[in-house]
Amino acid sequence: MFLAAVRRPEVVCANRVQPREPFFQQLWGPSMMMNRRQFAWAAAAGPAVFARVLDVLAAPARYDLIVKGGRVLDPSLRLDAIRDVAIADGRIATVGADIAEDASETIDARGKVVVPGLIDVHCHAARVKDGPTLCLADGVTGFVDAGSQGADRIHETIAVARSAPQPCRVLINIGRAGILPDGDTMDISRADVGAARDAIAKNRDVIAGVKARLSRDVAGANDYEVLRRAQDVASSFNLPVMIHMGQTVSPLPRLMDLLKPGDIVTHMFAPPPNSIVDETGRILPEVLAARRRGVWFDLGNGRTGHLRWDIVERVMQAGFWPDTFSTDWTPEGRTAQVIDFPNVMSKFLDFGMSLDQVVARATVNASRVFEVFRDRGTLNVGAPADVAVLELRQGLFEFVDNYGNRRTGRQRLFPSGTILGGKRVPARA
Ligand SMILES: [Zn+2]
Repeated sequence: MFLAAVRRPEVVCANRVQPREPFFQQLWGPSMMMNRRQFAWAAAAGPAVFARVLDVLAAPARYDLIVKGGRVLDPSLRLDAIRDVAIADGRIATVGADIAEDASETIDARGKVVVPGLIDVHCHAARVKDGPTLCLADGVTGFVDAGSQGADRIHETIAVARSAPQPCRVLINIGRAGILPDGDTMDISRADVGAARDAIAKNRDVIAGVKARLSRDVAGANDYEVLRRAQDVASSFNLPVMIHMGQTVSPLPRLMDLLKPGDIVTHMFAPPPNSIVDETGRILPEVLAARRRGVWFDLGNGRTGHLRWDIVERVMQAGFWPDTFSTDWTPEGRTAQVIDFPNVMSKFLDFGMSLDQVVARATVNASRVFEVFRDRGTLNVGAPADVAVLELRQGLFEFVDNYGNRRTGRQRLFPSGTILGGKRVPARA
């Protein structure tokens, strides 16, 4: 509050006199520069001093960065209007119409959509060194690498996560060898509870949950036991489990039974066997019950076996909308199906969702799933200044599901700029 007030002299100090040189010099010597720490000290020193400090600060204020004239769309604030977003010290300083003060840097966002930085709760960006920066250029200012590695090589994803420019966390694959072409846990001994526990204990700051991939070609008939062991590991640390559903050997209701509040079901639009919806368009009662008790349902776009348009249509028509969108991004996905997070979001504009509803699932909703993102997914004053500038183009755009089926949409979002912690990052190459 103090900072916002100080940086708006037209409001706070409009009728006040010029700075009082002698008083100020007594405090800090001849220099008129006052940093934030000094300001906090002065504020704490008492109302009298604080009032005088406000006088001094009547000098022209500057923001570090202003994103000007965009359509600012922030579901967390119920805001959808042409606004400027002003940033100072890495945080959102104010959002308003025609902010008059100058800034060190200005981004012209006229004709663009300005949203909180995107949060991808299921991707594999920590699998490769440049994954985090590639995603950042697409507007992704926070992500979770969901199960790229298990206990044996988790240090590799953790190293990438730790050096990533944006906040990120990893989920440890319950299969100790990570993602394997012949199935992570086809051999049940790979679902090693002790090894996973040790890995989490050593990296509690970065590991934010456990991933259990349960499809027939990943876990075979072990799916139920794999999930049971994943919960066993997660419960020792009070962490969520993310299941990769679809085409399981076990019926979905049996697996749903093992999910606790805060767990995540990804690939929610996976086609049968063991979809969340039956042939008549009814969402399984066990799935509804899971949502009621606080289990999240996530998109997980991916490229194989997770997304088929007829299932999306049926589930959306039943009103069972995703809580979060995620890309299941891999480097290969950059050129096929996934492309980038804004592209993944665009697909749902064609299924009855408004732009606002689409943005919510990639921002504020996602911020609630993992603790690390709690103060993000919003342009609220004081929040870290993570911003995605997008372009909403009208035209004919082709979207492909994981089965080669095509749909033509009339709108598509494109990444146009990213700001992370108040700093502009390079655009996608
Ligand atoms: Zn995945």
